[in-house]
Amino acid sequence: MAFELPKLNYDYTALEPHIDARTMEIHHTKHHNGYTTKLNAAIEGTENANSSIEEILSNVSGMSSTIRNNGGGYYNHCLFWEVMSPNGGGKPSGELASLIDSSFGSFEGFKDAFSNAAATQFGSGWAWLCYENGKLVVCSTPNQDNPLMDDAGCSGTPILGIDVWEHAYYLNYQNRRPDYIEAFFNVIDWNIVSEKLNQAK
Ligand code: MN
Repeated sequence: MAFELPKLNYDYTALEPHIDARTMEIHHTKHHNGYTTKLNAAIEGTENANSSIEEILSNVSGMSSTIRNNGGGYYNHCLFWEVMSPNGGGKPSGELASLIDSSFGSFEGFKDAFSNAAATQFGSGWAWLCYENGKLVVCSTPNQDNPLMDDAGCSGTPILGIDVWEHAYYLNYQNRRPDYIEAFFNVIDWNIVSEKLNQAK
């Protein structure tokens, strides 16, 4: 029961001009595929061979760095592709909008917190919007860590994440990470993020 590289719900060109096709193709077929293949190789024949990715991540502090890095990479990119859409952008509505307002003061307050977490994550990593105990929180993690890891130093259930590894933006944005973060807001699929919130609750 190996993990599979998920298909995207849109073409590699679909998120242009915000995220370019070449970046999308390399990111999916090389980077995410690599994490998936290496995760499967690392757990094959072990006690984790039939575990869910969530089970692996929630116990990852006792596992190898190979499982940590590739398990995180597998999960993180699955979420990343899902929360983006060529029909994305704008603002959330309904319960998600209310929860963002009560947690961050306003949508702009959330956007500032999330963008700041993404911009200030030193080196490679991710920024997250997570549901935890009735509210939403923003945090960031290094490398392929994520809030589901038992020792992440950042908790909750991720409902939105942005990859700030240079491989996610360098071809188009070079060193301009803040421009990439701003562009990401044009492709966030808030309907999917709302579904993630409902699942997390
Ligand atoms: Mn990546």
